[in-house]
Amino acid sequence: IVVLDGYALNPGDLSWHGFEKHGELTVYDRTLPHETVDKIGDAEIIFTNKTLITKEIFDKCPSIKFVGVLATGYNVVNTEYARLKGIPVTNIPAYSTGAVAQFAIALLLELCHRIGDHSNSVKSGEWSNCADFCYWKYPLIELSGKTMGIIGFGRIGRATAKIAQALGMKILAYNERIREDMQDGGMKYVPLDELFAESDVVSLHCPLFPSTQGLINKNSISKMKDGAMLINTSRGPLVVEQDLADALNSGKLAGAAVDVVSTEPIPSDNVLLKARNCIITPHIAWAPKESRIRLMNIAVDNLAAFLSG
Ligand code: NAD
Repeated sequence: IVVLDGYALNPGDLSWHGFEKHGELTVYDRTLPHETVDKIGDAEIIFTNKTLITKEIFDKCPSIKFVGVLATGYNVVNTEYARLKGIPVTNIPAYSTGAVAQFAIALLLELCHRIGDHSNSVKSGEWSNCADFCYWKYPLIELSGKTMGIIGFGRIGRATAKIAQALGMKILAYNERIREDMQDGGMKYVPLDELFAESDVVSLHCPLFPSTQGLINKNSISKMKDGAMLINTSRGPLVVEQDLADALNSGKLAGAAVDVVSTEPIPSDNVLLKARNCIITPHIAWAPKESRIRLMNIAVDNLAAFLSG
């Protein structure tokens, strides 16, 4: 068994014991593209997080019998070719639903309370006395009674909605398909334009497809309420970043908070880095220890299911 890039999900705080039970295990922290073939060697079972497993890799490593992707998205593997060769590829759906929903709300709460900024002000000697420094510097926003529009009402979208409801928010949802089992008390399905027009907060939870790329752009932002906020914990390319930066800098949008950007790691010239009221985190919503343990346990279950036929 070879894990090609284990560091991303286990930087040393978790045990690989579950994997070791199933065979001789080698774990690499990370693997560069030109190292992949050598590191796989004659391993039959490989796990990857971001290391690409292309047709060429399959051809050069004929011992591969199973590929476990240590993530939800499995676009790092040429699954078409794996299918042709009869090699099963497994992924890990839904290990981080609660974590990502919690993170989306944490980003929203940070936009509304600016706790980091207020704490830094106190530590640098400023206390809110309204003579020189005041809460006006980082205004606070109450969410109760406001409307959250959720685009992509799947697992994470629905989990986010439930927390937002507990904060007293009304929920509007847009989903590609509306399924009866997705109807839930107090949440209303609306067309996309109505969601943009009525929401104080728009939170993105749909997958990245050609049809959703650039969903948030100049045109859709113009349909949003003045002073609305945008949360993106889904995928960076859903947003045209220049258009978002323009809307933040002009004051059309009051704030944005994103865990994902169009190119990751973020290049130093990304326009969002200097945009007004924009919080950026490094694609970490999925990463609490609890989620990573769940991910590793499911990966081991997938392997056990494969080994037992
Ligand atoms: P999910 O499949 O349960 O839900 C996605 C929903 O989007 C589905 O209901 C689907 O019908 C809907 N959808 C598909 N196309 C759409 C469209 N064109 N317009 C509107 N809705 C559409 O997925 P999930 O587990 O809720 O995850 C949602 C997304 O969150 C993932 O695609 C992934 O990009 C992102 N994610 C991010 C992190 C992170 O760390 N930031 C972690 C996990 C997942």
